[in-house]
Amino acid sequence: MPHYLPGRNPALVDVTRMSDIPIASVMGGAETMYFPAPREAAGRLPAAGRLHAGRLRWDEHDGVSELRASRPATAPSNGTRRVNWRSSEMKRHVLMAACVAAGLAMAAPAQAQDLTITNARIVVTPDQVIENGSIVVQGGRITSVSAGAPAQTVGQVINGAGMTAMAGFIDSHKHIRDSEDFAPQMRSLLEAGYTTILNGGGQGAQNLELSRRISSGTVLGPRVIPSNSINFRNTTPDQARAIVREMAQMGVMHTGEIAVTPEPAPPQSEIEVLKAIVDEGKKVGVQVNVHAVSSTAMVAAAEAGVTRLVHLPNKDWTSFDQASVVAQSGGIVSGLIAFGAPIIDRLSPAPAPVQFPKDNMPRFRDGKAWPEALAGANRDAKGRATGTEGGYTIVNARRIWDADPAHTTMAFSTDQNYDDLVVLEHELKSFSIVFSMRDIFQIMGPNSAKFVGLENEIGTLQPGKQADIILLSGNPTENIYGLLTNKVTILGGKVVVDKR
Ligand SMILES: [Zn+2]
Repeated sequence: MPHYLPGRNPALVDVTRMSDIPIASVMGGAETMYFPAPREAAGRLPAAGRLHAGRLRWDEHDGVSELRASRPATAPSNGTRRVNWRSSEMKRHVLMAACVAAGLAMAAPAQAQDLTITNARIVVTPDQVIENGSIVVQGGRITSVSAGAPAQTVGQVINGAGMTAMAGFIDSHKHIRDSEDFAPQMRSLLEAGYTTILNGGGQGAQNLELSRRISSGTVLGPRVIPSNSINFRNTTPDQARAIVREMAQMGVMHTGEIAVTPEPAPPQSEIEVLKAIVDEGKKVGVQVNVHAVSSTAMVAAAEAGVTRLVHLPNKDWTSFDQASVVAQSGGIVSGLIAFGAPIIDRLSPAPAPVQFPKDNMPRFRDGKAWPEALAGANRDAKGRATGTEGGYTIVNARRIWDADPAHTTMAFSTDQNYDDLVVLEHELKSFSIVFSMRDIFQIMGPNSAKFVGLENEIGTLQPGKQADIILLSGNPTENIYGLLTNKVTILGGKVVVDKR
C-alpha cells in the first residue's frame, strides 16, 4: 500500500488486533509476523511493557509517531532476521507504545508533548522572574520563555493567570519505598511538585525495576534515578570496585548513600574503600553519594574525592576551613537541613509511611518524641538528647554556602517519609532561617539539578531544558509557603497532575 507513509498503515494495527500480538512484532517485516516469533518476542518483554495492539489507539497522534518509532531493530542470525528485543532503545519504544495503549500518563520525557502556558508569573532562573509571561513547550522541551503572550501557541494551552510557574522540585536524596506504598508515594510526590528524585539506597536491581515501573507508565510518578547501596562492612577496596563496575553494567549510575562513621572520625579502612569506589566510579561514570554527618566525616569524604554529600553535618559546627575544603573540591551538600528540627502541630496523614496526629507535640521524623527519638542523638554528659542537631545543620548550611562565591555548594533533599507536603514545609522552614527565597530557588533548582548530574536538563525553565514545570497558586517569591501550593505538575511536557 504505497500511499501510506511508513508506520501509518492501519492494516498493521488490524492484523495485530485480530491476532492479539504485540504491535511491534509487525513493524520489522513479514518474518516477524508469523508465529512463534511474536509470542517469543512478547515473552521476553517485562510484563508491564507488554503491548497488545487491541488496546492501541491508532487515531491518537502520539500513538502514530510512537508506532513509527517502534520499528524493531533487527540483527542477522543464522541467515534469518530476528527482532532484537533486548535493545534498550527497542524496549523504550515498546514501553512508550504500551503506555499510549493503556492510556496511562508516562513519567519519562519520552512521551513528549507540546504545551503552552500563558499569563503566569515565571521563575525562569533564581535571578530571572517574569511577572507575566508565557512558556512554549515542544517535544517535551521548553522552546521559549517570554514576557507577555507567546508568538504562537502550540498544543494544550494552560492559562496560568494568578499562578507561578517554576521548575519541578528535585529531591536529591529520598528513599523510595518498594512495597504496596510505592504507587501512592509516587503520586503524592508528583502532587507536591516533585518531578525528579534520586533514590537514596537499596538494591540496584530492585531500584532499577522501580524506575522502570515509572518510565513504562505502569506507575505514575516523578523521574526516579536508581541507585545501589554499597556497605563498608566486610568490603575490600577490590570488592567495592567490582560492585561499582557491576552497577554501571546494570545501568545504575549512582551509589546509594554510603555511610561513613561520623564520630570520632571515619577509620582508615573506610577511607580506603571509599577512595576505591570514587576512583572506579570515575572510570565507569558512577556518581558516589555519601552520608557524612559530622564535619570531620564530611571533610574526610571530600578529601577522598567525594563531591556529593547527602546530608549536612549535624554533630558539630562546621568551621570556615572545613566548609572551604568542600567548596574547593567542587562538593555539594544536599540539605536534610531540618533533620534535627522538630515537627510541631502538623498532621501527617496516610498514605505517608510515617503518620502522626496534629497535637502540638514536638516530634522527630519517625513520629516519636523530640529530641529523644533523634537517630544517633547528640547527648549531654548525663545521656540526655540535646536536640542540637536542629541548630547545627542550619548554621552549617549557610557556612558551606558562603564558602563558595558561586554558591553551588548547597542542594535540596528530604530523606524523610512522612507526608510529602509536611516534609517540604519542614525543610523549607529551616532553609528560610538562613536563606532568601532567591537563594532557596537556587538550592532547589540548579544546585539540586547539578547534584543529581542533570544540570543541563532540569532545574530551571530556560529554553532547551526538559519541560518539568509546576504551577503554584501561591507566590513563592514572597515566602516559602508559596512553594506548598502546587496545582499542576508537568513532566517532560505532559500534564501529570492537574488540581485546578
Ligand atoms: Zn538517606
